[in-house]
Parts: sequence; C-alpha cells; structure tokens
Amino acid sequence: MIFSEQSPVTFADELPDAVDVVVIGGGVIGISTAWYLVQSGASVLVCDKGRVAGEQSSRNWGWIRQQARDPAELPIVIDSINQWERLSRELDEDIGFTRRGVLYAAASDDELAAHEKWLDTAAQHQLDTHMLSGAQVDELIKDKPGQWRGGMYTPSDGRAEPFKAVPALARAVRRRGGRIRESCAVRSLDMQGGLTAGVVTELGYVKTQAVVCAGGAWSTLFLANLGVTLPQLTVRATVARTAVAPDVYGGNAALGEVAIRRRQDGGYTVASSSTNEHFIGADSFRFFTKFLPALSASVRFIRLRFGDGLVERMLPTRRWRDDEITPFEERRVLNPAPSPRAVAAMRKGLARRVPQLADIPFAESWAGMIDVTPDVVPVMDEVADVSGLFLATGFSGHGFGIGPGAGRVMADLVLGKPAVHDLSRFRFSRFADGSPMLPGPGL
Ligand SMILES: Cc1cc2nc3c(=O)[nH]c(=O)nc-3n(C[C@H](O)[C@H](O)[C@H](O)COP(=O)(O)OP(=O)(O)OC[C@H]3O[C@@H](n4cnc5c(N)ncnc54)[C@H](O)[C@@H]3O)c2cc1C
Repeated sequence: MIFSEQSPVTFADELPDAVDVVVIGGGVIGISTAWYLVQSGASVLVCDKGRVAGEQSSRNWGWIRQQARDPAELPIVIDSINQWERLSRELDEDIGFTRRGVLYAAASDDELAAHEKWLDTAAQHQLDTHMLSGAQVDELIKDKPGQWRGGMYTPSDGRAEPFKAVPALARAVRRRGGRIRESCAVRSLDMQGGLTAGVVTELGYVKTQAVVCAGGAWSTLFLANLGVTLPQLTVRATVARTAVAPDVYGGNAALGEVAIRRRQDGGYTVASSSTNEHFIGADSFRFFTKFLPALSASVRFIRLRFGDGLVERMLPTRRWRDDEITPFEERRVLNPAPSPRAVAAMRKGLARRVPQLADIPFAESWAGMIDVTPDVVPVMDEVADVSGLFLATGFSGHGFGIGPGAGRVMADLVLGKPAVHDLSRFRFSRFADGSPMLPGPGL
C-alpha cells in the first residue's frame, strides 16, 4: 500500500506559535528525527506538504540492510536495525519487523568475487555476513536449484512494512507531545541576523531557531529558494507486489536481474535491478560533472530518459515569495507512474529466476522518486552559511533501513550533543570544497 493525495489527512495538529525544532518532511528521516528529539524533551513540529510517508517512505522495498553498505554508513545502520527491533516491541502497532536476512545471489565467479570484497568491512563490525556456496543458496531459495555459483548472506538483516512502520512511529511521536501537520508545505525560512528565526508555512508562521530539512526529492528545490546549492538528482524506481504466493524464501534477496522481499500479507515485493530511470532536466546539466563518477559506476542500473515534462524540468521555478503558492503545494505527493518496461522486466526476471512466482499476478505496482547525491551517501549536517538549518537528505535509495539511526544522528546534531559516529563522509561542504566524489556501493 502506498499513500497519495487521495489518502485522508490523519495528522492535523494545530501549528504552535513557537517550537524548539521544525522538521520539514514526514518521511522516515523526518519522523525518526522528531522521535529522538521528543525523547530528549525538545518541542517539535513536523510539517509535510502531503502525507506522512507519502513519498519514498511508503514506496520502498522495506529492506533493512546492513549488507554491502558504505563503510561510513555501517555503524549507523547497525544502530538503526537495533532501533527498528526495539521500536517493533515498543510501538503498540505491528510494523512487520523481522530479521530474515539479506541474500545477494551470484550467478558467476566474477559476481561472487565482487561481493566477497565487502567481507572485510563486515568483519570489522562483527557482522554475521558470510559467503554461501551454490548448494547453500539453493537451500535458502526453494526454486530452480543449480543456477547460482554462490552468494553473500547476512542473516541478521531485516525488513519491515514501510507503509505501516513510518505512520506508527509518527503516532508515537505524537503521543510523546510532538506535533505533526500534513498538507502543510514549508515555503521558506525566516533568517534574522544570519540566524534561523522561524519558518513560513502555507498555514502561517512558526518561530523556531532550528530547522531540519528532510525533504527527500524536494530538498534541492527548497534550498535553491534560500540561495543554497545542493547537488541532488532524482531517480524513478518502479516496484510491484504480488498476490499471495508460495513461500520460496522468507527474507530479502537480490537474484540477478530481479529482487524479492517476502511481505507480511503473504505476497512478495518485487523489483528489477536495471530499470531505474533519471529524467533529464536542468539539474542534470547543472550537476553533471559531480555525478559523472556515480553515473559511470551505475551505468548498468540507471537509464537516462527525456519523457513527458521535459520543458517543465528544464525551466524549474527556483525562487518564490513567502506569500506565493510554491511548487510544494502544487504537487502534494510525488506519485510517479510505474514504468511498464520495469514491470515487464520484473515478470521476465521472475520467470527466469523464481519460476514459482512467474504466474502469480501483481496486485499493485507503483513508483517512487529516489533522492541521489553524487557519492550516493546522504548529507547529515548543519548548513554552514545558514545557522540553525540542518540537512538530512540524499539517502540515495537506502534510507528506510537507516532511518532511525539517521534520526538519532540528526537529533544529536540539532541538540548540540557530541556525535556518536564519524560523520565526516556526510558533511555538506564536501560538494563545494573540491573533495573527490567517491560513490558508495550504490542505490
Ligand atoms: C522504490 C524504492 C525502493 C526503495 N527501497 C529501499 C529499501 O528497501 N531499503 C531502504 O533502506 N531504502 C529504500 N529506499 C529508499 C528509502 O525509501 C528512502 O531513502 C527514504 O524513504 C527517504 O526518506 P526521507 O524521509 O528522506 O524522504 P521521503 O520519504 O521522500 O520524505 C520526504 C518528505 O518531505 C516532504 N516535503 C518535501 N518538501 C517539503 C516542504 N517544503 N514542506 C513540507 N514537506 C515537504 C515530502 O512531501 C515527503 O513526504 C527505496 C526508495 C524507493 C523509491
């Protein structure tokens, strides 16, 4: 299930006159940040222009993956999966959390060798990641034996149902006194003497000294209006879910060209590895050189498209007045159409790799817009030129699993607590200080 503009508004708290922290964006990152802030006693308002978890945070595959993470993200995601586990016990709602493992199956020796390179990183963090033989993969995937040379496997990896987990956490934020307002775009910041003094929302002004921008695919636009450049692009990713299906594997698995994840409702969430699409627009040219390393590393996985809306994308509105309707209000929920080509590729992938699922109909398909940075890891930092403005964006296709961990990082940053993790890889200044863009392991 995904949320759209037609979904009822369920979070409609009154805007306070003043609050310690305003969080822009009710996705997993904004809601998790709010969760750790309210636990520390801060007063918090989360504004979402659309719906809580309306965009990426209800549309993702639901993998909570430590395996094959960027080394700088790994300690945060290890904390995060433990937090998910704790939340699954403490929230009085079932979020579908379970640790049933992540498997990357390999069909060739080259693929196997590529996976194997990550084992040292896993060992440094005492993860249970290990390599499997082809026969061991066959024991896990109960379909079409003999097609795999082996695989990489992390049994302690997990999953949750995103469309349940994020709203459940939002309700918990509320129970702790946090306020959440859907259908409320933040239009701009009020800066006084170089300091953040408040936010201007479509529903009025709220005084605050700290703002966390967790705007996902919209962060670049929000910052552009403030004169701040964030090189981030969007990628459309298509997903489908099957009707109830035989239990061929209970965890999350990348099986060559197709990926599957067992769902709580007895079906599978399905995706295809080579069907992500970037729609060319003005930002593609603006940030081209920064994205070159990521583009060449992911050339097999991302297609460049022109498609509908090219003119609009080439001439985006980047500045507006506080009393004007902004692009955030014009498109409350980014709900891209799923790509028929991607859906066809999934069907083909299932037929080839998991024949037992080949004829199980898709009950639904949808797409989400992933926010990608040039080095495929997020920004978690305060903006140097705008005191009191913090950024948590660019989670580059793997922000669901790391959500609670990232929320904790952000709450500590905002509250001025010492950082528990090394955050240097996530600093905002890396895009402007000449640092080489070294892409992490990918979306
Ligand atoms: C198809 C797909 C599959 C994925 N699979 C996985 C996976 O298996 N595991 C994993 O870890 N990650 C996965 N991801 C990535 C993950 O979903 C994202 O990284 C994560 O959800 C990002 O959360 P977010 O809160 O930063 O952004 P979002 O969930 O996109 O939320 C941003 C919110 O900000 C709001 N907003 C923006 N601007 C404003 C404004 N000016 N005022 C008010 N509100 C505003 C938007 O309305 C939106 O609700 C996947 C993503 C997609 C699309």
